[in-house]
Amino acid sequence: MAKVLVVFMVGIIIPTAFLAYLGILSVREETRLLAAESEERVGKTLRAMQDQAVAILEASRKYVETVVPSNINPKRAGISFLIILDSEHHLVYPIREGPEQEERSLPFLQVRFHQSQLSAERAELKDHDYARAEEEYRALARQVPLPYWKAKFLLLAANCLVKQGAEDQAEALYQEILSRYSAEPDERGRPFGLLIALQIMDLQIQEDRRSLAIATALNVYQDMLNGHWKISWENEQYFARTLQDRLAELGGSMSAADHHQFSVLNSSWRFKESAATQARNFVASRWGEILSIVMRDQATTRPLLIFESPDINRGLWVIPTIDPLTGSRIGWVIAEISCREIWAQIGGTLDELAGASHAAYRLRLRETNILKSHQDPGNHYYPLSSYIPVTFPNVSLEVGQLTDMPVQRLASRRRRIYISVVILAVCVILVALYATWHAVTRELQLTELKSRFVASVSHELKTPLSIIGLIGQRLKLGSHRTKEQVGEYYGILAEETDRLKVLIDDVLDFSRLLENRQPYRMEPTDLSVLISESIDRCRRMHPEEHLDIAFQKSEDPFRVKMDREAIGRVILNLLDNAVKYSPADRIHITVSLKREDRDVVLSVADEGLGIAAEEQELIFERFYRGMSSMSHQKTNGVGLGLSIVEQIVKAHNGSISLKSTPGSGSVFSVRLPANGDSALG
Ligand code: ADP
Repeated sequence: MAKVLVVFMVGIIIPTAFLAYLGILSVREETRLLAAESEERVGKTLRAMQDQAVAILEASRKYVETVVPSNINPKRAGISFLIILDSEHHLVYPIREGPEQEERSLPFLQVRFHQSQLSAERAELKDHDYARAEEEYRALARQVPLPYWKAKFLLLAANCLVKQGAEDQAEALYQEILSRYSAEPDERGRPFGLLIALQIMDLQIQEDRRSLAIATALNVYQDMLNGHWKISWENEQYFARTLQDRLAELGGSMSAADHHQFSVLNSSWRFKESAATQARNFVASRWGEILSIVMRDQATTRPLLIFESPDINRGLWVIPTIDPLTGSRIGWVIAEISCREIWAQIGGTLDELAGASHAAYRLRLRETNILKSHQDPGNHYYPLSSYIPVTFPNVSLEVGQLTDMPVQRLASRRRRIYISVVILAVCVILVALYATWHAVTRELQLTELKSRFVASVSHELKTPLSIIGLIGQRLKLGSHRTKEQVGEYYGILAEETDRLKVLIDDVLDFSRLLENRQPYRMEPTDLSVLISESIDRCRRMHPEEHLDIAFQKSEDPFRVKMDREAIGRVILNLLDNAVKYSPADRIHITVSLKREDRDVVLSVADEGLGIAAEEQELIFERFYRGMSSMSHQKTNGVGLGLSIVEQIVKAHNGSISLKSTPGSGSVFSVRLPANGDSALG
């Protein structure tokens, strides 16, 4: 058995399993390749999408940056609020705040120049010798090295010229200072340029050159609003008020164009004032928190678009200003923008890309908020995802291949086919395994049956043969005393020969039955006669026992079509068993014969040992010998009788049944069709 299984496994299972294994490997490899290919495609799409999204965002950032250097202008499309901070987080735009704008200490003046300064001041303020004072101031301006003092002394010289009444010369000197030291701040942080412009304007008013004075004032006002002067908010407010006052005074001499320019500048100023308040509030209340976000996202040198509220249409650009030489951050540009257009633009571009490469995508803000998606996001896989770098730490882009790609469909179909083939192969192997196992088990059973058969038969043959041999020996030696004894010897010889004959008949019948070639000769037979004959035969077979056999029949004669000899064997077998399995002192057997519908029922009842319930099925099997045969010494037999009986009855299209109670007897009933239509008839 084990050998057969090993051969079976080596021959079928191992090659099939190997083939299945190869198949699984190839399917896995194919799946892997497909996944890699699809991932590559998806990867390309993702990169393209990312690039596009970044380009759109970059454009928005650049726009914000280009707006910055221009003047204070209320009309800035898409930007609702804009400020610039320096590296110390002081405002630079729209207004200047910060330590360098505050009042500063005077640059140090050497002692010898200080002496000269005192002398010049004496000449001007005490002696009223303006010519000498002017001379001395000019000399000082030439000698001192610092631009602040140069500008300061030249300004004092020009004032002396005014006091002398030499306005033209004074103006020329003002222009000179203006051209050389315009941006230089004085001790209060006010640029000389601005101060002198006001002086020139005053001069022009004095000389009654009003239109010139108006032009000068408007220009200075304009320049200041354009951020030409890097001055503190306080100074700017001071100059603005001064200019506004002067221009208001000069209002009567203004042309219509002047009036218009003046009102435009005034409204710009008001805008700047409100922008200044807004900027200061922003820095005071919101900047700290925004800075912590920027620091958390480690975006201190890269631009960042932040959403402070759930409203994704209002973004706050926080753009670090980088020094191109050192690469370090020198400040921040902060702008609140409307993002509606950006989303629309990104969505349109991504849709286009997704459509072109059969991809699904999802643009998400903070894991949950889906900004844009192509294809129903629930139905498709998004194997690749990426954050939009540089600007969007919170926004992720996920891209997936749509599952209905033809190549994927093909692959999954192939996979399905392959898996079904493998399952089928496994089923076939299992069925084959079961069939082999079944066949081998049957073969083994048969072999065991045969060996049991041979053992039983040889045992059964041995007993009568040795008796016959012994009697033969005695007769030959003449070791008998009386004639009766000789008669007895012959009797024993006949009996044992009979037993042998029965046994050999059993064996022959059995092997014939095994090969299924028992020739039955169906002929009408009087069953009651056959039974009576069988009873007589039985009595002859057991001469030493007292057999009490009753025969009850419902009619006489009882004609049925059957094989006389075979049915005779059935009856004799049942009678013989009834005798064998009854105690010697209680052999009461009842044979009955009756008709039931269209059948004939023959039963043999005894009051013997009976058969246990669990054995009642088994006793019809070949070579099966029950408990009664083991416990009962006198019984001989090989366990074939009942299986032969069953075979014969079945061949006659009949059936055999048993009712038995252990200890009180058994009834075997044979039911045959009355018309004798047998399977072999
Ligand atoms: P054998 O009689 O040669 O053992 P059988 O096939 O005739 O073989 O019977 C099989 C078994 O059935 C017997 O060994 C016996 O245990 C049991 N058997 C048959 N007939 C009877 C009976 N009338 N009463 C009790 N047991 C019986």
